[in-house]
Amino acid sequence: MAKKIVIDAGHGGSDSGNVGNGLVEKEYALLISNYIKRRLDDLGIENIITRNSDRELSIDERINIIQSVYGLSDDVIVISNHLNSGGESGLEVIYALRDPRDFAEEIAEQVTTAGGVVNKYYQLRDPENTQYDYYDIIKDTPNYETVMIEYGYVDNQEDADRLKNNYEKYAEAVVRAIAIYTGTQYVPLPGDQYYIVQAGDSLWKIATQYGISVDELKKANNLTSNILNIGQLLFIPTSDKNTGTEDVYIVKAGDSLWKIANQYGVSVDELKSYNNLTSDLLSIGQKLKIPGSSTVQEYVVKAGDSLWKIANQYGISVDELKSYNNLTSNLLSIGQKLKIPGSSTVQEYVVKAGDSLWKIANQYGVSVDNIKKANNLTSNLLSIGQKLIISG
Ligand SMILES: [Zn+2]
Repeated sequence: MAKKIVIDAGHGGSDSGNVGNGLVEKEYALLISNYIKRRLDDLGIENIITRNSDRELSIDERINIIQSVYGLSDDVIVISNHLNSGGESGLEVIYALRDPRDFAEEIAEQVTTAGGVVNKYYQLRDPENTQYDYYDIIKDTPNYETVMIEYGYVDNQEDADRLKNNYEKYAEAVVRAIAIYTGTQYVPLPGDQYYIVQAGDSLWKIATQYGISVDELKKANNLTSNILNIGQLLFIPTSDKNTGTEDVYIVKAGDSLWKIANQYGVSVDELKSYNNLTSDLLSIGQKLKIPGSSTVQEYVVKAGDSLWKIANQYGISVDELKSYNNLTSNLLSIGQKLKIPGSSTVQEYVVKAGDSLWKIANQYGVSVDNIKKANNLTSNLLSIGQKLIISG
């Protein structure tokens, strides 16, 4: 059965909770809770909120509200929102002694992905009665799966600043964790980019698609290896290259997308998607952003290397590495030079005996015209050893 979510906004009314550095716990608990409710409604996840205004609720009143709607059903998840105080820093998730850690861990992961700082996720026992949870909202909801989230420490200046500026991002991260944990499809907010890993994907493929580097993608998702799982959610950051330092091109009479793309060594598709263009029409004076141009790197094979090892190091697949270097076997020799694909799809091809334009075009899935234009060829004749640029 689909899980139902209870959003519990901590404190309220005369109970302000923790106060410091311009933060009042009851206010942020309400802001965050209302945000989560709105987004769960958007995603079609059934939920209730214990309070949506500044009113005081005892623990018994909170339990009564939940039970009056959901009874003692065991398919309920309770999320109680709070701010912390006491000299540490970072977000904390406290999960029940009776529950697995998985949901708390997912929240911590998603908040980290959203740029938040997580201190820990843990269970907390009542020191006087160690078989029980310390917090009432956890102890007194034994039929439900309950977590308490402390979004940061009000007595820590950095936490307070982070929360004021980013509480919606952290609330959105909790929404994402709920969607993932309950197996509900997550639909990002407009303007946010997330990507769900498909079969056959590699970090390199995804990074290229979004015009960012493998490193940027790994860093934004705290990935320590290049291994992706199908269904994994990746946050797509804005490329460092795309901010401030990018080239801008002003369209002149006689320009075409193809001409400009070719000039910068990018594909027409890259140029269009980079500028959110839906047609091929340009107007004179129009400004186009130019994505970082070809960044082909060279790698010199060392003792102990294998294709797998090198591919892994650059976040690409062995097949990508082989086809990029026209390798037909997996054998490498020390000192051999390999091209490492970067963020451009422009490739160089050296004409071999028996080649024809049609054969090469077919091999790369481009048109004969595309190759002729990219290389300023006026005839279809090729000579062995001739270098061709394959674009797109
Ligand atoms: Zn609290």
